[in-house]
Amino acid sequence: MSTNDAMDVLNSTQHTIREALIKMGFGEEMYELLKEPLRVLTVRIPVRMDNGKTQMFTGYRAQHNDAVGPTKGGVRFHPDVTEDEVKALSIWMSLKCGIADLPYGGGKGGVICDPRKMSFGELERLSRGYVRAISQLVGPTKDIPAPDVMTNSQIMAWMFDEYSRIREFDSPAFITGKPIVLGGSQGRETATAYGVTIMIHEALRRKNIPVEGARVVIQGFGNAGGYLARFMKEKGAKVIAISDAYGAIYNENGLDVEDLLDRRDSFGTITKYFPQTISNNEMLELPCDILVPAAIENQITMANADKIQAKIIVEAANGPTTPEATKILTERGILLVPDVLANSGGVIVSYFEWVQNNQGYYWSEAEVHQKLEAILIGAFEKIYDTHLKRDVNMRLAAYMTGVRKMAEAARLRGWI
Ligand code: NAD
Repeated sequence: MSTNDAMDVLNSTQHTIREALIKMGFGEEMYELLKEPLRVLTVRIPVRMDNGKTQMFTGYRAQHNDAVGPTKGGVRFHPDVTEDEVKALSIWMSLKCGIADLPYGGGKGGVICDPRKMSFGELERLSRGYVRAISQLVGPTKDIPAPDVMTNSQIMAWMFDEYSRIREFDSPAFITGKPIVLGGSQGRETATAYGVTIMIHEALRRKNIPVEGARVVIQGFGNAGGYLARFMKEKGAKVIAISDAYGAIYNENGLDVEDLLDRRDSFGTITKYFPQTISNNEMLELPCDILVPAAIENQITMANADKIQAKIIVEAANGPTTPEATKILTERGILLVPDVLANSGGVIVSYFEWVQNNQGYYWSEAEVHQKLEAILIGAFEKIYDTHLKRDVNMRLAAYMTGVRKMAEAARLRGWI
């Protein structure tokens, strides 16, 4: 995210938190507590590169609020990481944990780097260096990292190993999103997409649209978008368009999802195989039942909100819709399932992984899915009810649900 975009995203998150607190009768003091993370650590990490020279990398770890319990949230490796972005993402994590009723507050980390231009060895040294730099602040009962954009289970494995060496005991509950053999959970890799699928199901029910034959458009074909396309196809929906950073592929009769998944590279790029594509902007405006932004921030804005032809929008990405666009979409009767609800499947199964690590007893994928469904369907119902009863849009309803637990916990601890 650019510096300005990150600032906009942080400002609009703060604005909505304030609105949610006011609606629930909390005062200005509570807003002052929750508008920023309690702690943000900036670190500089020396990494020996393959050419023998040392390069310095800057990283962050933000802990938004630990009134409910330890903080939890992913680590992003990306050239555009900024402090404001990490702060906003840590606040969103708090909201997601509140919505899913997990015993956590939100945290987030990021390192300014481009993994696409780094060797395997350089990435390993950076991952270990980041853990050494933040080790004082994190731990299984303090702050638990996880994967995010351009970090994966291999990076989690290196981080877990480094932390265990520093602490001198094996500590799988320090980090989630690990490979299964190192204490990862069944269903973690597909959890975000599986959760989005459950949310689509709930939204379709409210709009009386059958899933069989429903037309789905997905922006982004990485971890979230790719598995989502597969799950929707398996449920009988028709995935009519998908995109990557360079363009979109469209077929109104439905795309061959498995073929596209086979051809995709490890960064979710697919359009290089297709000479004729449409633009991302054109794709967002296609007539369809469900539009899923699953790529980056600020994709649905004042510029295109009144041209969107979807009946339902489910935000797999974080922050794809601006507040102004949310207002327009709501006025137009489009049902929007906001990011803090829609993509919380990842953190919920991360929580399951932490629970399994702590108890040393592991669950089947079916068990994970069943528990995930129960939490997400309950959360959807609560937020949809608040949306109708309090006459607020789905995003504000989600924020109201998300801040309630941490605000009450902070009050009971005597912080306010
Ligand atoms: P990813 O890196 O695996 O894939 C990203 C996809 O988006 C790729 O196909 C890429 O080509 C595409 N993309 C990048 N820039 C784009 C642009 N300007 N326009 C259109 N497409 C573009 O990432 P991911 O893990 O799938 O995450 C996608 C979104 O979902 C992010 O907002 C992330 O924060 C959110 N999310 C992911 C998870 C998860 O578990 N993966 C969990 C919660 C939220």
